[in-house]
Amino acid sequence: MGPQQERSSRSTANGGGGAAARKAAAAVHYRECQRNHAASIGGYAVDGCREFMASGAEGTAAALLCAACACHRSFHRREVAAEAAADCDRSSTTTSSAA
Ligand SMILES: [Zn+2]
Repeated sequence: MGPQQERSSRSTANGGGGAAARKAAAAVHYRECQRNHAASIGGYAVDGCREFMASGAEGTAAALLCAACACHRSFHRREVAAEAAADCDRSSTTTSSAA
């Protein structure tokens, strides 16, 4: 009777919990509210909210509601700021001065 391998019994009991290492948090911004308040009448009208502002602390349900327009965060346009901003490439493509 040898010593039981605590290691193996432990890792298999967990069933693949994938909460190991979180990805490097990319800066995510939520911009204009795109909720169509007139969808029910076949129109299109947004509330004009320009940027999502959490109405509560992060981790709470209120954090997903906009303090300005009270819409859910998912209505706001999501903008992910990539680490290597692709903005730099834009200006270099405007060189068309070849005769
Ligand atoms: Zn809104």
